[in-house]
Amino acid sequence: MEKRVQLYEGKAKKVFATDDPELLIVSYKDDATAFNGLKKGTIAGKGVINNKMSNRLMKLLEASGVPTHFVEELSDRETLVKKVSIVPLEVIIRNISAGSFAKHYGVEEGIVFDSPTIEFSYKNDELGDPLLNEYHAKALKLATDGEIQLIKKYSFKVNEVLKEFWKSCGVTLVDFKLEFGRLSDGTVILADEISPDTCRLWDSKTGEKMDKDRFRRDLGGVEDAYRKIMARLEEHYEAAVGK
Ligand code: ADP
Ligand code: UDP
Repeated sequence: MEKRVQLYEGKAKKVFATDDPELLIVSYKDDATAFNGLKKGTIAGKGVINNKMSNRLMKLLEASGVPTHFVEELSDRETLVKKVSIVPLEVIIRNISAGSFAKHYGVEEGIVFDSPTIEFSYKNDELGDPLLNEYHAKALKLATDGEIQLIKKYSFKVNEVLKEFWKSCGVTLVDFKLEFGRLSDGTVILADEISPDTCRLWDSKTGEKMDKDRFRRDLGGVEDAYRKIMARLEEHYEAAVGK
C-alpha cells in the first residue's frame, strides 16, 4: 500500500493518505502529552508498543463482534486502517474510580463499581474536551440517536471483552477512552487506539499502575511499565484469541 501525503499530525500519531481513498496509514509516535497538551514529553518505545497493543486488542474485539478500523499491521509503528469520519465524542467507560472521576466527585481512587459507568466528552481541544450527555450530543448534532445507542452498546461490549482479557493477564482494567467513526456508507466502527495511553491498567495483585498515569503523575518507571504491560499481553494473547 503506497503511503501518500501526511493528512494530520496529532499528539500521539501521524495520519497518512494511501492510494485507496477508503484506507489510511497511522504512524505511532513516542510523544506523550497530558492535561490537554500542557505537559509534554517522550516515552521511548511507546509508539511501537501502542501500535502492536492496539492492533491485537482490536483483533480480539473484531472476533467478539465489535467492528473496528484495523486492517493490517505494516511495521512496528505503522498500521493500515479503514478511513472514518470521527464522531467527535470521547467515550469513557469506568469500572473503578480513578482520575477525573475521583476528583470530580471527591472520592478516593480504587472504589469498585457494581456496574460500569459511561460518559461522553466533546472531542474539541480548544474547549478542553468538555463533558456532555447524550442530549447535548444530539443537540449539537455530533451524532444521531441511533449512532449513540450503537456506540453505547459497542462500548459496554468492549469493556466486557477487554476486562476479561486483562484479567487473564493478571491486570485490572480500571477505565478507558474510545473513539468511533463513520465509514463512507455511514457504518459506525471503533477507531483510534486502545493502549496504555488511553486505558488505566493496574496489576491485579500489587495495584501497580502500568499505564500513562506514571507519566502524568511523574511516578517514574514509565518506559518499563509500557514494556511490562506489553509483555503481559504477549504472554496471554494467543490463548485468548484461540478461544
Ligand atoms: P489527537 O488528535 O488527539 O492529538 P492522535 O495524535 O492520536 O490524537 O491523532 C490521531 C487522529 O486520527 C485523531 O484525531 C483520531 O481521532 C484520528 N483517527 C483515528 N483513527 C482514525 C481513522 N480510522 N480514520 C480517520 N481518523 C482517525
Ligand atoms: N483518556 C484518554 N484521553 C483523554 C482523556 C482520558 O485516553 O483525552 C482516558 C484516560 O487514559 C483514562 C480514561 O480515559 O484511562 C479516563 O480518564 P479521566 O477522565 O479520569 O481523565 P484524566 O484523569 O486522564 O484527566
